Amino acid sequence: MGHDIWQQVLPHISRAVDHNRYETWFKPLVALDSGDPAVLTLSAPNQFVSDFLDQHFGATLLSLAQKVSPSIRQVRFVPAAVSSPAPSPPARRNAASAATSQNTLNPQYTFDLFVVGPTNEFAKSVAMAVAEAPGHTKFNPLLIYGGVGLGKTHLLHAIGNHVSKSFPDAEVTYVTSEEFYFAFIDAIKNNTRKEFSDRFRQSTTLLVDDIQFLVGKESTQEEFFYIFNTLYQSQKQIILTSDLPPASIQGLQDRLLSRFQWGLCVDIQPPNLETRVAIIQKKAERDNLSISEDILYFIAENVSSNIREIEGILIKLLAFASITNTDITLDLVRGVLRESIKKEPLKISLDEIIDRVAEYYKIPPNTLREKNRRKEVAQCRQIAMFIAKTLTNNSLKTIGLHFGGRDHSTVIHAVQQIESLRVKDESVQRDINYISSLFSQQ
Ligand code: ADP
Ligand code: MG
Repeated sequence: MGHDIWQQVLPHISRAVDHNRYETWFKPLVALDSGDPAVLTLSAPNQFVSDFLDQHFGATLLSLAQKVSPSIRQVRFVPAAVSSPAPSPPARRNAASAATSQNTLNPQYTFDLFVVGPTNEFAKSVAMAVAEAPGHTKFNPLLIYGGVGLGKTHLLHAIGNHVSKSFPDAEVTYVTSEEFYFAFIDAIKNNTRKEFSDRFRQSTTLLVDDIQFLVGKESTQEEFFYIFNTLYQSQKQIILTSDLPPASIQGLQDRLLSRFQWGLCVDIQPPNLETRVAIIQKKAERDNLSISEDILYFIAENVSSNIREIEGILIKLLAFASITNTDITLDLVRGVLRESIKKEPLKISLDEIIDRVAEYYKIPPNTLREKNRRKEVAQCRQIAMFIAKTLTNNSLKTIGLHFGGRDHSTVIHAVQQIESLRVKDESVQRDINYISSLFSQQ
């Protein structure tokens, strides 16, 4: 019910505020079913956004909601569970969807927008050389490796964008190895292995992101090995990324590892201070965000080197500045930084989550991994999936697979069920808080 009302309120908001604000602050909100028709409960991506909206927009939203449904007496904001991801403004969402559908390159990930410094300069120039003459350099395959959020995916897309533009006949295929794996499983299930394999063999430039995901997946590696050979032999370009240097990826077949090293492996290291300043400056300029020099340095000195994190902070600053029409002050920056630092994702495995949830509800862990449909078990499983979604960065598909081979829609359903249940039922919220807290103490 809350959902329907919210859908009707959204267009009013979209007319009342500017586009940027709408996309950043309001569109990501999800209406929860609070069980009380007089209360419209909106789930915000985190505490920061929740408090902010409550303070600045509570009253406006209430009056808009009352236009749609006069019986509403209160608009309530709740933060999504502990350590959920930062708000996802449009640029972010595009990036995410680009990463989940084959052949979609994010047009924002270009060489032009890639800021260079001593730690990524070499990777960028090699990437450009490959993009200028795919299949005709010594760098085949090209493997780019480095830590999280340092620009591997950006460079991979930049190559793809450049090749597509310069060579209209090129068949550029972009896929994460996770997608490759799932598409391969589907192909086996549906008896379409040939189509699967042909699809990749037709590529003239094949971009595979995060190959470390193939670790331990023997038959997928085998399939990839054959595709690799076909493309390599016909001088097609292959570019791969990994979060580890190839020699340290355990669980990849030796023959794959050795092939990955036939061409060139380049690394990207965390940006130094000057590069961080340059990155912040460039992104701020792009977003028309004016930041004074001392604040620029303050941010650069206080963020970790993960560029994704730097972007998250700028997005929040942008949202703030545009929504309040005020300048960015040091205090504001401090607040945003404090919020963001808390959001470091924890390293938690899905098995640990299963164990802790099972222990808490005193059921054998394996019942959560099975298709057991008993009601009590089903709810525990939904809670475990919910915690998995909020505390880890695993994809819906991966989570589904861990919980008895369910598909991603089951996980979405579970997350929605628990979202609304925890608002209605305090004990559910308490359980979730308690179980989640077991992980943050580690
Ligand atoms: P990775 O794949 O290494 O985890 P990404 O390529 O996804 O990292 O980069 C994270 C974010 O940081 C992206 O939005 C990307 O555009 C940005 N980014 C990374 N490196 C740079 C850079 N050198 N210049 C500008 N933006 C960058
Ligand atoms: Mg990446």
